Order: sequence, then C-alpha cells, then structure tokens
Amino acid sequence: MPAILTSRFLFGPGPSNCYPEATAALAYPVIGHLDPVFIERLDRTCAGLRTVWGTANARTLPLSATGSGGMEAAFVNTVSNGDVAVVAVNGLFGERMCEVARRCGATVVRVDHEWGQPVDAERVLAAHPNPKVIAAVHAETSVGVLSDIAALGAGKGDALLIADAVTSIGGLELLADEWGIDVGYAGTQKCLGVPPGLSPFTVSERAFERRIKDPRSWYLDIGLLGGYVGAASGARTYHHTAPVTMIAGLEAALDRILAEGLGAVQARHRAAGTALQAGLQEMGLELFAAEGARLPSLTTVRVPDGVDSAAVRSYLLEHFSMEIGSGVREFTDTVWRIGMMGPNAAPASVTLVLGALKEALA
Ligand code: PLP
Repeated sequence: MPAILTSRFLFGPGPSNCYPEATAALAYPVIGHLDPVFIERLDRTCAGLRTVWGTANARTLPLSATGSGGMEAAFVNTVSNGDVAVVAVNGLFGERMCEVARRCGATVVRVDHEWGQPVDAERVLAAHPNPKVIAAVHAETSVGVLSDIAALGAGKGDALLIADAVTSIGGLELLADEWGIDVGYAGTQKCLGVPPGLSPFTVSERAFERRIKDPRSWYLDIGLLGGYVGAASGARTYHHTAPVTMIAGLEAALDRILAEGLGAVQARHRAAGTALQAGLQEMGLELFAAEGARLPSLTTVRVPDGVDSAAVRSYLLEHFSMEIGSGVREFTDTVWRIGMMGPNAAPASVTLVLGALKEALA
C-alpha cells in the first residue's frame, strides 16, 4: 500500500504550492507530442513564457529539465574549451554555475561576494577584459538576494549575458530584452506555481548565432531543439518526447497568471514579501539578506540565538503541515528560508507563517 498523500503548506525555497489550474491540467489525457492539439498548447506556452520573460525571442521554450538542466543548457551552448566565463557568485547557485561552466571547458573567472549581498556589477564587469559570457543569478534562493541584472547587461560589451531567473520568473519584474539577457533559464516550481520538471528557457538571436555549433550535450543542443519547439507548426521534427503533461500544467498556470495580470501578480509577490519581512522584524527577528536587496519571493531570517533551527522546522511540519527551509552551507543551522511564491504570495500566507512561527518559538 503506498503512503497516503499529505498536503503541505510549502513555504520553503521551492517547490511552492501550485496554482489549482496547473494541478487540474495535469489530469488532462496524455496526447502525442506531435498531435496538433499539443502543438497548439506548446505554442501558447511559449507565447506565455515570452511574456513572463519580458522577451520577443523566437527561441523561448520550456526545456524538458529542471532549473539545473536549464543552467547546463545555458553554458553548454555558449562556452567550450578555453572560452572565458565570468561568473558572479553570491550564493550556492552562482557556485553551481562555475562548476557547470568548468565542465563545459570554460576558463572560469569567479567573482565572489559575501553571502547575503547583491552582485556588484562594476566588479563583475571589470573582472576580465574580453569574456565570452558573463553570468549571474537574478534571485539567489540560497541567500534571499535580488541582484541588478540590467547593470550587467548595460556593461556587457561583446559578451553574452546569462541570467538565472529560477526564483524570479512569474513573480518578480523580469525584462530579459530590456536588461540585455542573452540566455536565460528558470524553473517552474517557484513563482510560476507549477510542479518541478520544466525549465523556461530563452535565447536571443545574437546568442543563437554565436552558439557552440556541436555542443557536448545532444539533448540540450538549442540548434536541434529549435527544429521541434521553434519551427513553424507542421514543420516539427521529432527530437525527444516532450513531457506533454507538464507542459499542460505550465500552460494552465501561465493562463492563470496572465488573466490576473503580470503586474498584479508581481505586486502580490512584493506585498507578501514585504509584509512577511516586516512581521518577522516585529517579532524581534533579524533578516539575513542586505537591506535594499531582499527578495520578496524568498525571505532569509536569522535563527535566534539558542533556538534549535531543525526542531522549529520539525514543529511546523508536525503541527501545521508547513515546510520552511533551512539555510545553506555554513548557514544551515543559523538561517531559515521562507518562500512566498505562486498562489502562496498572499496575505493569508503571511498571517499563517508568522502565527505558526510565534507558536513554535514560544
Ligand atoms: N538556480 C536557482 C536560483 C535555484 O533556486 C535553483 C533551485 O532551487 C536552481 C537554480 C536549480 O533548479 P532545480 O533544483 O530545479 O534543478
């Protein structure tokens, strides 16, 4: 007998709770990935993704991979042996970018920042005179920090700009074209309110022209993927079996977000994050991320001295069926991470989290 499903309030760093429209769409009948009905669904999904990315890029698609797969795709298509990749590191996912770029053969110039601080665009842009790519995380989930991608885009020169928007897409302002993002990847399981499993991905014309022509990954080769996802309807060729069910969920969530209005959805995320951060401070708790760079979608807060971080998280799970996240690395026991993403970005979530935390700390 399989374990009975338990519903949770997912206020951790992701996955977040899903929009009900997304979950309902997961029950649609499975249809063929070249079925005209599915092709129309895919086209609508790509169009919706262009809106949340803030781009007109023809090559904007849901990669069949999680956010890390999107990261792999970004680097494997842009760097090869000896290409210089300048990577801004202000948390775990910037570090992961360095490792992925290294495995693609790049010479990595790593620009470290104190965890909790935003990326310093000036320092990153000055790190190398002529890099092939510059890469940074827009919303560093490991530390709850938002960075200024537009400043990197403004000074990138000849380099291609890679941006990680896993914890910003669908919830925070994201303007890929205006900010000069050449290659962007994201995930579905955070502000988009869809289960994990797809990576919304976008590539500028400029980056596509300068792509690695025979990348080490066949599966993530954007040249090959374009023939299936990007081609005109009727001209699709088989590349891999698209996850039709996941794409139905993403299409439904995008419909839901765009019906509410992207601006309204972003305002809802901002309001929830701001209210949560104010409430935590009123409780006497100290926020971890630097003031002025705090992510609305993911709040980091210091565990008070003498409090057992893991015991509090267990209490919340047991008594409220509520998940919040621990910190990362050296902050595992001293920081909590609280997400307000997708449908969870709402006043009721703030009240619930603050009330539950007060009880757990009493
Ligand atoms: N980048 C950021 C900023 C993330 O928060 C995450 C996951 O939380 C990833 C990349 C990796 O995504 P995934 O875990 O879906 O592979």
